[in-house]
Amino acid sequence: MVLNIQDAPDKAKRIFSMLIEAFDEQEINPTPLNYYVWYQYFKGDKPQFRQEMDAILDDEFGYNDRVGRRLYDEYLAEDDNPANEFDRAFRRLIESVIKKMNAWSEKLEAQTRDLDNCKSQLSNPDLNAEQVKAITDSVLNTASSMQESSRLFQAEMLSGNEEIRHLRQQLIEARAEAMQDELTEIGNRKAFNESLAALMMSAEDDPQSLCLILSDIDYFKKFNDTFGHLVGDSVLRYYASIIKKSKRDNETISRYGGEEFAILIAESSLAQATERAESIRKAIESAQLKRKNETKSIGTITASFGVTCMQADDDAESFIARADEALYKAKQQGRNRVISAEEKS
Ligand code: GH3
Ligand code: MG
Ligand code: MG
Repeated sequence: MVLNIQDAPDKAKRIFSMLIEAFDEQEINPTPLNYYVWYQYFKGDKPQFRQEMDAILDDEFGYNDRVGRRLYDEYLAEDDNPANEFDRAFRRLIESVIKKMNAWSEKLEAQTRDLDNCKSQLSNPDLNAEQVKAITDSVLNTASSMQESSRLFQAEMLSGNEEIRHLRQQLIEARAEAMQDELTEIGNRKAFNESLAALMMSAEDDPQSLCLILSDIDYFKKFNDTFGHLVGDSVLRYYASIIKKSKRDNETISRYGGEEFAILIAESSLAQATERAESIRKAIESAQLKRKNETKSIGTITASFGVTCMQADDDAESFIARADEALYKAKQQGRNRVISAEEKS
């Protein structure tokens, strides 16, 4: 295996993550050459190439495989000084792909010339039957050799594609890992931010249908002080598992901070979101916490909840702030309760 994500510098990883999305979104063929051209474009080291690519991308149908090949030949083929091991490996892969493509097109040209040649020979009216047969055999031979080399070419291209697919897979996995909270195995703050941005965009036409529950475990510091941090950790895992167990398809759950959790609910009303928070609150309150391998309960925990739905003039910050204020009120009013932010008229 030539291309390995471990060898890639952070910048390369970031670029590749963007490429994965861009290629899906714009339906670009995921070939090694296209990845290479776009990778160099996002790297932005070559101003003239960047400019031309910008112009091409301004046109909705501007980029295709052929354009990619031309850009490669014009701006990238001569580049023999890759910046790091990953770029060097990527470049080697592309060079081998290009070599195969060139060999293929040369062979195709030679075979086309052979066929043209046969055609002009056949147009000679003085040919005898034997000569016609010889030429026809030669046509058949060329045709079958074209078929064979086309098959070989496709197989070789597939192996190049396989490398890119493998790299893509590694990146998708690395990305998922970067979005997950290690302790609770639900989304982390980064995942929350991304989901929030995406959900806010899809709720544009009906902002109030997107609701947010922020919850915070009550007196958790004291719990840690009493039972130790490790027991505290398992409580966090347990808390997350309760939310996860009852998670519905329209919900995105994440660990927002230390002992704070967020649930984004799409297509919900404030009343439904409040009811959901209330059911989690009850489930937490009624759970008897036990140490591993012990049957005796060490007590219970409670949590407080702030609930709100998005308003038309909200940005992410004001949306979260309103949920946070409601949560703060729940704490002030004695904890272990759900407070919903009033909807503005
Ligand atoms: P309140 O009811 O006002 O929320 O009180 P609190 O003690 O829960 O609030 P505070 O924010 O003062 O304390 C939060 C605690 O959560 C402090 C910190 O030790 C604990 N905590 C945060 N992250 C972790 C974690 O990953 N593991 C453990 N065990 N504890 C954590
Ligand atoms: Mg807290
Ligand atoms: Mg707390």
